[in-house]
Amino acid sequence: MAEANIENCRWCLANGSAGAEPAASNQTQYLMLKPTPPNPSAMVIPFRHVETPFEFNSAEWADLGEMLAEAKRQLDQFQPEGFTIGWNVGATGAQHIFHAPMHVVCRSEKDPGAGQGIRDFLR
Ligand SMILES: [Zn+2]
Repeated sequence: MAEANIENCRWCLANGSAGAEPAASNQTQYLMLKPTPPNPSAMVIPFRHVETPFEFNSAEWADLGEMLAEAKRQLDQFQPEGFTIGWNVGATGAQHIFHAPMHVVCRSEKDPGAGQGIRDFLR
């Protein structure tokens, strides 16, 4: 999969291709909600075009924590019984848009994969 540049990057808000308005934002990060069952989720995305969280600066890390708390507040309406939180990094790590979104995924006892976590695909 080709690496996106800033002009056609889905998560560079300035180019208008995100397809929806952020559910919340602060100085450096914004929140996108994806309320689709069976696993409603959110993404915390930096405004800056940053490929992976390894390039985040200290302000982006601080603001990420604030947006993670906001993601939980907004996802609590779905009454999740757990969460899976993290990044896919690099094409091999299943990253499709090279502008680091942190995924916050609601988990439920009714999930086919209930009890399976982020490392289960390695077993
Ligand atoms: Zn981008």
